[in-house]
Amino acid sequence: MKYAYFRIAIPTPLRRYFDYLAPANIQAKTPQPGVRVKVPFGRQTLVGILLDVVHETDVPGNKLKPVIEVLDELPVFDSELLQLLRWCSAYYHHPIGEVMQNALPVKLRQGANTHIKGIRRWQITPEGETVEPQSLKRAAKQIALLGDLKQASSGLLDSQLSEQHVGWRPVMKRLQEKGWVKSVEENALPIATPINSAPVLNPDQQHAINRIIEQRDHFHAFVLEGVTGSGKTEVYLQVIEDIIKQGKQALVLVPEIGLTPQLFDRFLKRLDGRIAIMHSGLNDEERLQAWLNTQAGSADVIIGTRSAVFSPLLRPGIIIIDEEHDLSFKQQDGFRYSARDLAVKRARDLNIPIVLGSATPSLETLYNALQHRYETLLLPERAGEAKPPVIRLLDVRSQKMEHGISAQLLHKMKEHLERDSQVLLFLNRRGFAPVLMCHECGWHALCPRCDAHMTLHQSNSQLRCHHCGTEQYQPKVCPKCHSEDLLQMGFGTERIEQALNELFPHYHVIRIDRDSTRRKGSMQKLLTEINNGKRQILIGTQMLAKGHHFPNVTLVAMLNADHGLYSSDFRASERMGQLILQVAGRAGREEKEGEVLIQTHHPDHPLFTPLLKHDYPGFAESLIEERQQTELPPFTHLALLRAEAVDQKSPMVFLEQARLLLEQVGQVNSANQNDVMLMGPFPALMERRAGRYRAQLLIQANSRKQLQALFASGISQIEKEQTAKKVRWSIDIDPQDLM
Ligand code: ADP
Ligand code: ZN
Ligand code: ZN
Repeated sequence: MKYAYFRIAIPTPLRRYFDYLAPANIQAKTPQPGVRVKVPFGRQTLVGILLDVVHETDVPGNKLKPVIEVLDELPVFDSELLQLLRWCSAYYHHPIGEVMQNALPVKLRQGANTHIKGIRRWQITPEGETVEPQSLKRAAKQIALLGDLKQASSGLLDSQLSEQHVGWRPVMKRLQEKGWVKSVEENALPIATPINSAPVLNPDQQHAINRIIEQRDHFHAFVLEGVTGSGKTEVYLQVIEDIIKQGKQALVLVPEIGLTPQLFDRFLKRLDGRIAIMHSGLNDEERLQAWLNTQAGSADVIIGTRSAVFSPLLRPGIIIIDEEHDLSFKQQDGFRYSARDLAVKRARDLNIPIVLGSATPSLETLYNALQHRYETLLLPERAGEAKPPVIRLLDVRSQKMEHGISAQLLHKMKEHLERDSQVLLFLNRRGFAPVLMCHECGWHALCPRCDAHMTLHQSNSQLRCHHCGTEQYQPKVCPKCHSEDLLQMGFGTERIEQALNELFPHYHVIRIDRDSTRRKGSMQKLLTEINNGKRQILIGTQMLAKGHHFPNVTLVAMLNADHGLYSSDFRASERMGQLILQVAGRAGREEKEGEVLIQTHHPDHPLFTPLLKHDYPGFAESLIEERQQTELPPFTHLALLRAEAVDQKSPMVFLEQARLLLEQVGQVNSANQNDVMLMGPFPALMERRAGRYRAQLLIQANSRKQLQALFASGISQIEKEQTAKKVRWSIDIDPQDLM
């Protein structure tokens, strides 16, 4: 009999697999690829994934160690997932062990067993239902808890309670003693029950649903391009209903924002099946159970953020990506994959349809549609009675501004507020002022560890670097010349909030940004205060722009939209357009008509013209043409080699060397030198961040194949480079962020 070696993916930064001897006590049966194994690695014991059982190895016999233990009887990754992950490792040039690790719930990485267990869930009892909140006057916490349990048709998990009710455990205990709540331990997945009925569909929605259902038995990619509020979610729901009836599973990916609870709730009240939810708010055990239930096929619908693209599907039926243009689908560190791109690849492998939904699809996706690789389904109008808001520019050139707000805007705000509507102001900059400067000597508050200004956060008298998190006390005098004349330059949300409180003393202002929502559950609380009308003026960053539904907001204003017009990032104008339309989508979601105002110093800029008409397709078309002329994605393909080190020289030296190696490989590989272009290395735009100097080498190719061919042989050589040892380096395929 030939000897069997275990080929194993181990979570290390090395771009290779490792061979081991079969464990000493090997069972009669050879384990299947995809099972977890425990192995000695250096001085550690690690959990790896068995890739293959082979009969030959390059490792000399005296170097081979035996596997300690095979952890699973059945693979944690079936052959489809295993193949996808191997493909990922090759395509993104990321170490196979880390790729596999990334796709597993934390508990399984640590070696936990794969038994499906019940999860504790808190529910209100029939007695609890009858309790009048007034009878509990002094127990605000009990009232709040009871109220939330009443709303939650399938009960609440520990993690949900921790998220929304700080210190809930003793309160719950009291409610339990009174017999008003009970805990049940059951299947980790709540069963959805269709209590809400479907609206009457409009013809566009009906057409979209029909087309998707027609193609349900094979791979077909759809772009569902529907303006905000056009009823895309309704389309998803009805398609999913059909998929569940077919006995199959639907995987729904959503961006990494507070969206999931609302969507989850909507799904729970409409669908007839079990829903698994996977996002970072779950605790490890809940996440594990959701994963195992998905794998066992007991989840009919899986809703999750980026990493849920690796969900183990037993009966795959469809993949849906909501807000497909959203940047959060691209992982920006470590294993830099695009969940959107992988979802399309996975749907193709699984031979199932995929729906990419957005009001503002990415240019990559639109280009695929133009090439007839994807089918476009349009929802050009808002569903129900809602009308699209009017979008107008406010020319603020030489206008008198009060705290970054023009007189015209102030006037409009008053008008809307007097009509008992809410007003939302958008500014993508948190903190008080982005620059603190000395009027006497010109000193600027710079971050000691980055090439960047520190942002003034006045509420806690701090200077804070938004790039590395460094914090300092706000100086009272200039550290250089001791002058007291320090200027706070520019505006952040905190400063606007303060100004609004002064300008509108009779209204309540609420600020939503990363600072005001830092504490657990605070986002939920603020959103509730907005929707029950306690706050009339909303000021916030991107967080406020996405996905939320504010029925009473009729005026939305962007305080500054100009940075997208002249940025050095070639994607900036695409993002600006998407942002404007997403922000605009917050206005007038119901009967009340909405209005959107954009303050700008460049009212004649041609990019604005289609946006004012809600013509995203026209806007995108002109950008696509521009990308074609400038030979940028989606017409070419990019990769970015990044390096950083504490000294300034090493990253550049390493990348110079990498460039030479790639050039050599390129000469061997390709007859036509012009097919692949190497640009750089250059220092990064912000060269120093968190005390490290950064540089990058940009690689542009006419086809993915050329890019892949270059790296397939290039990376292993770069890895062996002596200069690589002095830097941290990484490779980013299809980078979204070139800064
Ligand atoms: P999107 O996901 O495109 O933003 P939603 O599906 O959330 O849109 O729909 C926006 C609002 O319109 C929701 O309140 C939804 O219940 C409602 N809606 C959706 N479709 C219809 C319809 N055909 N008739 C009436 N209301 C609808
Ligand atoms: Zn000074
Ligand atoms: Zn910094």
